[in-house]
Amino acid sequence: MSEDQKLSMSIDIENLTKTYGSFAALDDVSLSIKSGEFLSLLGSSGSGKTTLLMALAGFVRPDAGSIRFGGREMIFEPPHKRDVGMMFQSYALFPHMNVFQNVAYPLKLRGYNRADIRKRVQEALAMVELDHLIERNITEMSGGQRQRIALARAIVFEPKILLMDEPLSALDKRLRETMQLELRRLHERLGMTVVYVTHDQREALTMSDRIAVMSNGKICQIDTPVNLYERPANRFIAEFVGESSCLPVTLNNGQAIFQGRALQGANVTNDMKNPSLVVRPEKLQFITADTLGYNHLHGQVTDVIFQGESQLVQVDLGEGMNVAIRRPTRSSESSRLPARGESVVLGLHVQDTLVVGDGQ
Ligand code: ADP
Ligand code: MG
Repeated sequence: MSEDQKLSMSIDIENLTKTYGSFAALDDVSLSIKSGEFLSLLGSSGSGKTTLLMALAGFVRPDAGSIRFGGREMIFEPPHKRDVGMMFQSYALFPHMNVFQNVAYPLKLRGYNRADIRKRVQEALAMVELDHLIERNITEMSGGQRQRIALARAIVFEPKILLMDEPLSALDKRLRETMQLELRRLHERLGMTVVYVTHDQREALTMSDRIAVMSNGKICQIDTPVNLYERPANRFIAEFVGESSCLPVTLNNGQAIFQGRALQGANVTNDMKNPSLVVRPEKLQFITADTLGYNHLHGQVTDVIFQGESQLVQVDLGEGMNVAIRRPTRSSESSRLPARGESVVLGLHVQDTLVVGDGQ
């Protein structure tokens, strides 16, 4: 199949740089996105996510570098010739037009005939389950409905690339989680390449084939959700993606030492800067001092917090170090949770034992 007939397109970004004065919003970014992939750009506010997305759309002109869609250079193409679908946090719908007119707008711009427009708008609205409200005014729609209309408008001309910038962040938690799953399903059905911007690590984990973590205009790590969570490249990633405590360890003869003992299963290199043990609350267990196959962390319970589906037990490990351990709330288990002040041994399975260095 030629690139023209495909539903999606690959994106190749090479050495992309964008500066504002002496400040680099994008600092030599290179990234290849596969045709049909759902890739998220994840990073805190100001890390350069929107700038990168706008460069892909053609609204930001980079100082240097290359952007290819399906192998074709796009750097000098104006936005309307890049043919990407776009969706933003603010719906940017036209309030004086009804639902039909809003969704039809990109088709009118592209010169589709009336019958074709009617058919495609119907289909796009059916995709987001709003085809029964086609004649309604925008002002009569709820926030969630407006976001669905914006989505229908973004996909109505069947773009091979869909760019989304925090499209769900204005919605409340329940609606946001529903829409996350809907967007995923829609992507599976339509198969276009998606670049999705979010600052919410959980949202990125939920939705993406791969996640590129951004900081200071750079990509720090790019990997699948599972690998990013299980094998963060450094402390910054470990703390940004998921809950974790990073506990300082010392290096001795290629071994990581914590509380006076060598950690089994930890891969360390001598050049690691400020190495720390990454501990996630759900990876810990209460064990006894003679349990094999685990690294042992000794401490004292400072708090037991009921959080509904799980309980969080806070443990003081001495020398100013604290960890949290999360256990599911089960009546069979909660009776065995230790109480505040109790001395405990926490087990971290050898295979879950990860030491990382500083750095971005
Ligand atoms: P994000 O979307 O990750 O929050 P942005 O890409 O919007 O980050 O911005 C990255 C950095 O570039 C920020 O520090 C922002 O202030 C700066 N920046 C973005 N656009 C401009 C601009 N037009 N002029 C000056 N600085 C800008
Ligand atoms: Mg942004």
